[in-house]
Amino acid sequence: MYDFAVVGVGPAGARFARQAADQGWDVLALEKGTVGTPLACSGHVSTDIWAFTGSGARDELFQNEIYGARFHVGGPHSRAYPFYKREVASNVIDRVGLDRHLADLAREAGADVRENHTVTAVDEYRDHVELTVSGPDESVTVEAKMVAGCDGPRSRVRTELGLPEPEELLHGVLAFSAEADHEDFVDVHLTAPTFFAWRIPRGEAGVEYGLAAPPGVQVTKHFTELVDGYEVAVAHRCSGAIPIGPPERVTSRRGFLIGDAAAQTKPFTGGGICYGMRSADHAAREIDPNRPETLSAYERAWRADLAREQSLGHWLRAAYSLPEPVQRVGLRALSGEIGVHMDRPTSLVSPSHLRAMVGRLMR
Ligand SMILES: Cc1cc2nc3c(=O)[nH]c(=O)nc-3n(C[C@H](O)[C@H](O)[C@H](O)COP(=O)(O)OP(=O)(O)OC[C@H]3O[C@@H](n4cnc5c(N)ncnc54)[C@H](O)[C@@H]3O)c2cc1C
Repeated sequence: MYDFAVVGVGPAGARFARQAADQGWDVLALEKGTVGTPLACSGHVSTDIWAFTGSGARDELFQNEIYGARFHVGGPHSRAYPFYKREVASNVIDRVGLDRHLADLAREAGADVRENHTVTAVDEYRDHVELTVSGPDESVTVEAKMVAGCDGPRSRVRTELGLPEPEELLHGVLAFSAEADHEDFVDVHLTAPTFFAWRIPRGEAGVEYGLAAPPGVQVTKHFTELVDGYEVAVAHRCSGAIPIGPPERVTSRRGFLIGDAAAQTKPFTGGGICYGMRSADHAAREIDPNRPETLSAYERAWRADLAREQSLGHWLRAAYSLPEPVQRVGLRALSGEIGVHMDRPTSLVSPSHLRAMVGRLMR
């Protein structure tokens, strides 16, 4: 009987497995494929990422540093409204490498991480859970005191535990052009209504073009317009789902969700790497597999950390659907130096942001 069975070894699962194993719990982590693949992520993260990695990670994973974003109401040739910081705002990193690095840290902490093991069913009992696992050779049953569903936006564990779905699932697509680009700005296109597109310079790893949209939007058509507008040839196209809006409950009797499975993402960008790992830390700190009543402490802790950021993030996202003339007026008024932390919309009222705004008015 394991203390925790972790389903999915992305950032959330690997982080939870590492932290739980560090505390001495007996942890089995199951990944249906090979850790890190297939890629469906930009790996554009705040510098907070390095608090979750081990030594040497930056040398291995870093691709480019970003100081700001140029917002556009429209395509590549539309007017750019720059927002920037004086210091580095974010990093672009190798996302496949990140997942492998985090899985290695979990192994080093003592977690039993197994690839090519797909969880197909979860049954909850009063004092344990049973997982049906399809491995490379055979199907086996695994018993654990608790199950951590870290299996991404279309979480099987969430369904098996009868937990509610996130409010919304966006569809994200990405592709890359090969030329090196070390520029320190990303471009964001608020291509009305309700979706956005981006261009991210990835240093020697080329340039990424991407788009995220709700169901019903013709993603392929708009993505083709974006890359045609930039007049580039792209390859290695990939896609994935982005959950927005956490369900009202992410814990059951002996199970809990972390990361995209719990929609612990930023509503205005869909980014979830750092939020998922922050939530994994809350789970590892609060949950005792011998005391199911501690699950409610995890619910409280991650919501106390993220709920205000997520609700402000919803308001920012709502601005993507404002009429274009209103967006232009807003962007013109607000663009310039900012002091906002990309994972913390509440930092819009931080001293550093207010200082930047006042500095702008004085100039
Ligand atoms: C196009 C796109 C661009 C993005 N760009 C960014 C970005 O720039 N920055 C950012 O912060 N976030 C970004 N995100 C979001 C980010 O990718 C997710 O928030 C993050 O991957 C969530 O981590 P996770 O560990 O919860 O889930 P995942 O990374 O999805 O990991 C879940 C793991 O579970 C495994 N799994 C699934 N089902 C099973 C099963 N039944 N049994 C065993 N294993 C299973 C999967 O194979 C996977 O490895 C982007 C997403 C998309 C789609």
